[in-house]
Amino acid sequence: MPDSPTQGETIAAIATAVVPEQGSIGIVRLSGAQALEIAQEIFYAPGKQQWQSHRILYGGICHPQTGKQIDEALLLIMLAPRSFTREDVVEFHCHGGMIPVQQVLQLCLECGARLAQPGEFTLRAFFNGRIDLTQAESVADLVGARSPQAAQIALAGLQGKLATPIRQLRHNCLDILAEVEARIDFEDDLPPLNETEIRDRLQLVQTEVKHILATADRGQLLRSGLKVAIVGAPNVGKSSLLNAWSRSDRAIVTDLPGTTRDVVESNLIVGGIPVQVLDTAGIRATEDTVEKIGVARSQKAAREADLVLLTLDARQGWTDAEAEIYALVKHRPLILIINKIDLAPPDRVTYPPEIERTAPTCAIGDRGLDRLETAILETIKSENLTAANLDLAINQRQEAALTRVKTALECVQNTIEQNLPLDFWTIDLRDAIRTLGEITGEDVTESVLERIFSRFCIGK
Ligand code: GDP
Repeated sequence: MPDSPTQGETIAAIATAVVPEQGSIGIVRLSGAQALEIAQEIFYAPGKQQWQSHRILYGGICHPQTGKQIDEALLLIMLAPRSFTREDVVEFHCHGGMIPVQQVLQLCLECGARLAQPGEFTLRAFFNGRIDLTQAESVADLVGARSPQAAQIALAGLQGKLATPIRQLRHNCLDILAEVEARIDFEDDLPPLNETEIRDRLQLVQTEVKHILATADRGQLLRSGLKVAIVGAPNVGKSSLLNAWSRSDRAIVTDLPGTTRDVVESNLIVGGIPVQVLDTAGIRATEDTVEKIGVARSQKAAREADLVLLTLDARQGWTDAEAEIYALVKHRPLILIINKIDLAPPDRVTYPPEIERTAPTCAIGDRGLDRLETAILETIKSENLTAANLDLAINQRQEAALTRVKTALECVQNTIEQNLPLDFWTIDLRDAIRTLGEITGEDVTESVLERIFSRFCIGK
């Protein structure tokens, strides 16, 4: 593991989101050897309050030279090792808003602290062994969670639900490696290797790896939300629908067919689940180059969407255009939106019988959106698209690493099948062990750490 070059310094940052004139409390956090000293320099605690760990003091924050009071605040003291970073940590709970917290932060910097880098508190918690890398990533996931389920999974990760099985897998691989290496080094002194047993143990590891890998898709869904693509022929009302739905004007609505030339995105929350809606250009054959790009993107968006909303105009009903689009997307979970029901009744529209869910809407009159949302939630449930019963979910980095572990283990298994010498077994086994260590941070490079912590906010 790389050394932390900056561990000696005391870092400071505003730990709460600061919105001008909003938020009643703002927290400035300090971590490092000088934290308490700086707090004593700028915080005045009247009466007989004890400067002890895990206590809250009440008092004033004053400029040490001028004595001018900047804020009335609470001070929370958490001395090493009983703190998030395992260093001395103090937090000033100031009045919220830009000015008090920024002034307090400035004072801390003047007294010798350094402004923290994004994620540096968590990085220190990781370097000091308080959390592993999966838990550090879960901190960022919890802060950025966009749905209750995503928060739940992040919390599980923070509590070690992923770290524990990954560490166990690594230990199991290390045990197997030790047995194999012992046979290489002390061949004459030990009974021969029980190949069947090693094979069985590898198989158990492999099964668990695959089990954890299977959580990746749904984890992705929870983190970035459900991707929904609105598709349909030009002028059926796709953009109007998205507009009505998101109550925004992001999609250009006009009467000319083909004006939504690209993919427009809107982020909504439907029944607690983040939903990213992609309004795609009408999928149809076209000679116009710009439009062609839009059409290609639409096809791609529809292919990548978790759910497709195929929209048609109730007046025209199911035409060749719908049949053509349907052919492209029919393997995806799909809801048929029958729009413009103010102009023609939806029950006259006939469509392929295998389409199970329909939602009649009037996009310009905001009608049918409730029903559409219900249909979406039903589809999510029936297609098992949510992670309702999932207690852990890996992210893309962890998925990539675990896929490498799976491949390495397959190689070991092949090597055994081919009766190759024991030296060969150890090569891929070591690779699997190293990669498992990369997931938890036991064996990780500086560039991986940089990538992970760069997505944190300052103060975390
Ligand atoms: P898109 O090409 O599929 O995105 O279609 P638009 O959203 O641009 O809509 C095309 C035209 O149909 C616009 O003039 C809309 O005002 C109109 N429109 C959309 N939805 C409805 C609806 O439910 N009822 C009626 N009467 N007109 C609609």
